[in-house]
Amino acid sequence: MSKILTIGEILVEIVATSKGNGFREAVPLIGPFPSGAPAIFIDQVGKLGQDCAIISRVGDDDFGYVNIDRLTQDGVDVSGIEILKQGTTGSAFVRYREDGSRAFVFNIRYSACGTISLNDETLKLIDTCTHLHVMGTALYAPSVVESILTALTRIKAKGGTVSFDPNLRPEILDSPGMREALQTVLSKTDLFMPSGEELFLFTAAKTEADAVAELLGRGIKAIVVKRGSKGASYFDASQSVDMASFTVEEIDPTGAGDCFGATFVTFWLKGTAPQEALRYANASGARAVTKAGPMEGASTKAELDQLIEAQA
Ligand code: ATP
Ligand code: MG
Repeated sequence: MSKILTIGEILVEIVATSKGNGFREAVPLIGPFPSGAPAIFIDQVGKLGQDCAIISRVGDDDFGYVNIDRLTQDGVDVSGIEILKQGTTGSAFVRYREDGSRAFVFNIRYSACGTISLNDETLKLIDTCTHLHVMGTALYAPSVVESILTALTRIKAKGGTVSFDPNLRPEILDSPGMREALQTVLSKTDLFMPSGEELFLFTAAKTEADAVAELLGRGIKAIVVKRGSKGASYFDASQSVDMASFTVEEIDPTGAGDCFGATFVTFWLKGTAPQEALRYANASGARAVTKAGPMEGASTKAELDQLIEAQA
């Protein structure tokens, strides 16, 4: 039986209900919504009934319990979430601009999850897991990077697998040690899941075909490229699959990539054919954008089947 692990930030997201450029004026807000890319990912894995766990830290506050309660309800092993008596749960305030881009105020690095490190209990938890999913966003502090690299080494040493979603825009690559950490993770990755331009972050290639060939040549077993409303593609040494997205009304794009990735990884680990895994992942990403709030659009398998059948 496989068990999927992720390590990284747990946050609440608080969203401005009016569009505009940031927070220098009082605006109405809605939230807290459970959030954090690794948390959204693992919640979607749990909702599919797959055994899974997250290692993180929250404060002993309502924002922490909003997350712990949701993850527990959706079937995630939360024993690796440490509740810090003196800590504060991370947060992200988000306001959409008229052009669809987002303005953020983050409290991550100096929140409870900024202090993630491993102890005897979390090391034992790691040893019960067979797959690690790494989110590029989670490489935000040296102790978190170290925790992820330790888990990666232990899980791979036992014959386990690693998936990696860089989940970042090129402009934040400049934080110290970030590029090196990303390269280390990539060198151990079995399943690489970039979105759009992220495919080119680690290669000198100019075309998608060249980038894919180069990455597969370096030992990555499979690559899934996410293309937002344009769908997604799958590549391995013997085949490639392109698939259009499902047609839905986009309410809130946050979390689509995380739900998509969680669903693809879950089916891939079961040995599902790439075409079928991609279809479920596309359905998961599509459902995610139809709900306000980053984790609110996570789906059960029955909900994915319903969307797939409706658009067959
Ligand atoms: P994020 O901004 O959350 O990091 P991402 O860039 O990682 O997102 P996207 O490519 O935006 O990921 O979305 C992931 C998947 O979700 C897409 O490949 C597609 O299957 C689905 N998806 C995203 N947006 C839409 C949409 N508007 N309509 C239908 N499906 C969508
Ligand atoms: Mg993403």
